[in-house]
Amino acid sequence: MLESTDRERETVRDFVQRLTRKYDRSYWVERATSGTGVDEMWREMAAAGYLGITVPEEYGGTGMSLVRLTVLLEELANRGVPLGFLVVSNAMGAIPIARHGTEAQKQRYLPRLAEGAEKFCFAITEPDAGSNSFNIRTLARRDGDSYVLSGQKVFISGADQAQHMLVVARTTPADQAADKRQGISLFIVDPKAAGVEMHRLDTRLMALERQFQIFFDGVRVPHENRLGAEGDGFKVMFDALNPERVTLAATTIGIGRFALGKAVEYARTRKVFDVPIGAHQGLSHPMAVAKTHLELAALMTHYAAELFDSGGKAGMYANMAKYAAAEAGIEAVDVAMQVHGGSAFTGETDLITLWPFVRLMRTAPVTREMILNYIAEHVLGLPRSY
Ligand SMILES: Cc1cc2nc3c(=O)[nH]c(=O)nc-3n(C[C@H](O)[C@H](O)[C@H](O)COP(=O)(O)OP(=O)(O)OC[C@H]3O[C@@H](n4cnc5c(N)ncnc54)[C@H](O)[C@@H]3O)c2cc1C
Repeated sequence: MLESTDRERETVRDFVQRLTRKYDRSYWVERATSGTGVDEMWREMAAAGYLGITVPEEYGGTGMSLVRLTVLLEELANRGVPLGFLVVSNAMGAIPIARHGTEAQKQRYLPRLAEGAEKFCFAITEPDAGSNSFNIRTLARRDGDSYVLSGQKVFISGADQAQHMLVVARTTPADQAADKRQGISLFIVDPKAAGVEMHRLDTRLMALERQFQIFFDGVRVPHENRLGAEGDGFKVMFDALNPERVTLAATTIGIGRFALGKAVEYARTRKVFDVPIGAHQGLSHPMAVAKTHLELAALMTHYAAELFDSGGKAGMYANMAKYAAAEAGIEAVDVAMQVHGGSAFTGETDLITLWPFVRLMRTAPVTREMILNYIAEHVLGLPRSY
């Protein structure tokens, strides 16, 4: 298991090393600030086959591998280049389509995802339901040869750049379903369809993607755009959400390493008394602890990805990896900032720019508390409070 991950990692690392010589951290910061996208980088990744790593070979990819996508995102983030769109499009779009799509859906979307001609975003969060995803109210009502979609979503990342959105809706309202897991269906929706309206939110993150509130007002969605069986979208949904947790965990670990790398360099040279500040255990021990936590989180993340690829039940490990990575990422960026003293707050050190992302990972895509609720209830078997 570890041997295959090592081989995967080496190939991907070589590619990322070459790629980030051209598309480095300063390129990323400039594009995240301007919001002008990274199309040329995306095209090069597609040409090298890296957008097809979650697409089966028969649909133009290189074989569906969450492991490889995880390593790719981790290696990019190790160099300060987090690519959120790879998460929402290639983990949350391609994987559920490859696993649950009809033959026509696979033929239509997967080759275009692998070529980089198509991007997906993923829409589940609603203002009133929040973390209680089963309580979503966006309703898809059957009407002739289509569904009619009404409702709203919030905080949808990259909706302006995506050619399609994967929308989680109810085909049976929560209060009429026999079980809260029933009555959920997923739909592939064209953001340009009549009745779709988007408003950009004022989120203050340093990221390539912007967030949107989306309104669906009687949007017609053809039957053939439903992904998976009607009312049985629970499994489809988690075949998007678990890869999201794993790939964001990998990204967070990479950003933590990137920050810690800067801190180590600074701590070796900065002297304010007689020795470099890195010699003071008040700084070196927290840095050593942060490194240990990052690597522990990385092991759990790789394990979750391998389990998912082999068809195992990855939920427990995906959640634990996401929790561990978020806490380790926050810890690493925080200690890196402490090491840098006042200069941590300048643009030149490019550290404060990492803080919003790692801190976000304690809140999104699933909050720390909801992960702990899941572990307490489903892993430990404790009663729930809500
Ligand atoms: C930058 C950004 C990007 C995002 N991108 C996307 C996207 O692309 N697609 C998408 O669908 N969503 C996206 N989201 C939404 C994100 O997944 C949600 O914000 C997150 O799941 C939390 O939901 P909420 O904001 O409604 O918080 P709430 O559910 O209102 O929670 C508020 C607080 O209450 C706590 N809480 C609630 N219930 C319990 C409980 N039972 N026990 C203990 N504590 C509890 C929560 O842990 C949290 O601390 C994004 C959000 C952000 C900020």
